[in-house]
Amino acid sequence: MAQISKNARAASATQRFECPCGGEVKMKSVFAKGKLRYVAECGTCNRQERRPSDFR
Ligand SMILES: [Zn+2]
Repeated sequence: MAQISKNARAASATQRFECPCGGEVKMKSVFAKGKLRYVAECGTCNRQERRPSDFR
């Protein structure tokens, strides 16, 4: 039986967030006022939030 360390995977993998609509939230880089910043965007409803955790 193969054992997979859940802790090791969680530490290295990118966190995943879900939009209330059921879509997947992805980080996206956007240029605004000469600065590169990241926004979280839902791929399904195109909703954007400043942080992935704001989708909850
Ligand atoms: Zn959505």
